[in-house]
Amino acid sequence: MESLKERILRDGRCFPGGILKVDSFINHQMDPILMKSIAVEFVRRFASEDINKVITIEASGIAPAIMVGYLLELPVVFAKKKKPSTMQNMLVTKVYSFTKDNTYDVCVSRDFLCKGDRVLFIDDFLANGNAAKGMIDLAAQAGAEIAGMGFIIEKAFQHGGDMLRSLGMRVESLAIIESLDNCEIKIR
Ligand code: 5GP
Repeated sequence: MESLKERILRDGRCFPGGILKVDSFINHQMDPILMKSIAVEFVRRFASEDINKVITIEASGIAPAIMVGYLLELPVVFAKKKKPSTMQNMLVTKVYSFTKDNTYDVCVSRDFLCKGDRVLFIDDFLANGNAAKGMIDLAAQAGAEIAGMGFIIEKAFQHGGDMLRSLGMRVESLAIIESLDNCEIKIR
């Protein structure tokens, strides 16, 4: 997606450890016009898939996911990183975050991720694929199927995309970063 790649090159910032900061337009301050274009592109790429729900993980997946859900007129579910005291009947998995170097629980109610669901998972970044693996586990526990996974930005050098594709998962990434070596953004 050219407009996204141009924006990453213009406004993205590199941090040591292979971190790309896009907080001026994606995950802190958000550009809704760009976010709409991102959602239109996801809808185009997954048009052939039979989907009944969009799913993501809080917090930065919510904005693109709700735009996609709006366009598809489908419900959007976000898995939570903290178990709400009122949430019963829930599915839980553990996810390792390399950006924060910790492992946290991710949970979703069985009421909203159910047997027979065919979900589209949307997230801002794909790095090592740990968040995606957590979502695969939650879907398996629920008896739901993942129809595809859409990421705004995939960092190819962390190989989560290779891992997911080798599992047979349909993965669509709108911008693929080859390298952030020497704090230079190289996009495929
Ligand atoms: P993974 O689970 O694929 O290793 O990492 C994906 C998650 O970590 C994303 O949901 C995102 O929140 C965060 N993340 C991974 N890499 C980056 C990055 O370079 N920049 C930012 N801002 N977040 C990242």
